[in-house]
Amino acid sequence: MSEREEMPLDVLFVGGGPANLAGAIHLKQLSQAKGLEIEIGLIEKGDTIGSHSLSGAIMDPKALQELMPDYEARGCPVERSECRDAFYYLTPGGKLAMPYTPSYMHNAGCKIISLSKLTRWLGEVAEELGIMIFPGFAGTEVLYGADGKTVVGVATGDKGVDKDGKPKGTFEPGVNLTARVTVFGEGPKGSLMREVGKKLGIFENRMPQVFETAIKEVIELPGDSAFLSSPTTVVHTFGHPLGLSTKGGGFLYKMKDNRIALGLVVGLDYDNALLEPYEAFVQYKRHPLIAEIIKGGKVLQQGAKTLSAGGYYTMPQLYADGALFVGDSASMLNIQRLKGVHTAMKSGMLAAETIVEAFEADDCTSNVLKNYEAKVKSSWINDELYLARNFTQALGKKGVGMFIHVGAQYVTRGRGIIDPMAIEKDSFTLKELKPGVAAPEKEKSYDGELYVDKLTGVYLSGTRHEEDQPCHLQVLDMDICLNACFKTYRNPCTRFCPGQVYEMEEEGGLRLKLNPSNCLHCKTCEIKDPYENIIWTCPEGGGGPNYSIV
Ligand SMILES: Cc1cc2nc3c(=O)[nH]c(=O)nc-3n(C[C@H](O)[C@H](O)[C@H](O)COP(=O)(O)OP(=O)(O)OC[C@H]3O[C@@H](n4cnc5c(N)ncnc54)[C@H](O)[C@@H]3O)c2cc1C
Repeated sequence: MSEREEMPLDVLFVGGGPANLAGAIHLKQLSQAKGLEIEIGLIEKGDTIGSHSLSGAIMDPKALQELMPDYEARGCPVERSECRDAFYYLTPGGKLAMPYTPSYMHNAGCKIISLSKLTRWLGEVAEELGIMIFPGFAGTEVLYGADGKTVVGVATGDKGVDKDGKPKGTFEPGVNLTARVTVFGEGPKGSLMREVGKKLGIFENRMPQVFETAIKEVIELPGDSAFLSSPTTVVHTFGHPLGLSTKGGGFLYKMKDNRIALGLVVGLDYDNALLEPYEAFVQYKRHPLIAEIIKGGKVLQQGAKTLSAGGYYTMPQLYADGALFVGDSASMLNIQRLKGVHTAMKSGMLAAETIVEAFEADDCTSNVLKNYEAKVKSSWINDELYLARNFTQALGKKGVGMFIHVGAQYVTRGRGIIDPMAIEKDSFTLKELKPGVAAPEKEKSYDGELYVDKLTGVYLSGTRHEEDQPCHLQVLDMDICLNACFKTYRNPCTRFCPGQVYEMEEEGGLRLKLNPSNCLHCKTCEIKDPYENIIWTCPEGGGGPNYSIV
């Protein structure tokens, strides 16, 4: 294969989410103000900026306000500025309006947004400032200096390689993007973060990472929908269909143009091997409260994504020689508020401030880059995450125990009964199934408009991959799938994946069939596989979902 080109930059941002886009913009603003010449590049594996962005989302605008006080005047796409909350506990057929909503669930002053639209807009702002944006480029390898520990950039993946690894007529070698500082903002469960973690030990001596997964839709409601004319714009629920022993809950936000965002978040430390998050989402839609709101509607877009839910005690070391870690990649989401856009953006901005110091001191080693961790610790990111430091652990408790811990933390500003409270279950935990136990009946009455099956959901996410390319999902040991996993858990990959990427074929002998072109890049498989037998790597840049309104 032909030589790889090298492209030297001063600063490289890996990932085009809110963390890195805010970071790149702030770096440009600061360097221009100081007369520093800093060449900034940003790569994003999605085909365009925004195409892999999926969130709720209610955004606390404080970071954006700091970045661009005139963001609304500059055309920032806000769906709604009024957040009027409703909070319910759901039983299978009923609802209980919560008499008291904890302060962290109040959303007054926040904005309802589509993350996909927001990042696309931030990408345009960044480009106007002269930042080089490279969508369709996946970072596939971290580059290190001669000492083997200084990060000196990232290699992007080759394009035009066939499924056997041979170059096709369309072959384009990847590029080695070198930089004095590389900022990793890959979002939850980054594939390069995994490698950096192994090599540099940045996750050592921290609590284990915690993840949740979510399926989300944007639904268009009929113009005469009663919900559209009601004052409520934000609905949060817990209980049905997950009950009180599985973390998670539902959200419904009113957007523009008769649209709503509807989603269900499921904690990936669940232990029921037969649970299928997608089916739970459909059951959620069938609950009378939700079914009444969405009736007559049509799903416009669907998608799935994971979120980093661990927070304070799971945050890695935030710097290395030549590297900084921001946003969900560094576990900075506040799960108590189900908000990470503002903390991600602020972390990117603090990274930018540190990079300016490093360039001024002409030292991009940990000597100066460690200031970033100090800045995060003395910022409002730390204040927020510290208040929620034991929250994910409390939600991991079953039944009444969960309420006791959550309540105790509420009145003690996060300390609770035990501090630090241990994370008891990792995401790989599943209970062994008894012989003969079958998965529950699946929803059958999809209408293809408002209730859609997984494959229609994949279609509605716009997901597309080059078919003839090496499989980006590595199943390390197929024997485990066909023997141990089949017998013990009945292959939960066929259920936890929201894209129907994994199918077991029993006819003519048991076989695991992979459909990698359905992959929504949520990475639930790598997180939830009970044998840690699946590794998610980036497919050819530009492949994956094509979100535009979620
Ligand atoms: C269902 C759901 C609901 C949520 N609700 C809310 C909410 O209401 N309010 C709120 O504030 N937050 C919410 N969040 C959390 C919020 O979306 C995240 O905290 C935030 O998006 C994190 O930003 P980030 O930039 O760190 O990562 P991301 O937004 O995940 O962006 C990372 C980007 O990096 C790209 N990338 C990854 N790896 C590579 C690579 N190797 N090479 C190139 N590109 C790469 C990805 O394609 C992606 O575009 C929600 C999240 C989910 C999933």
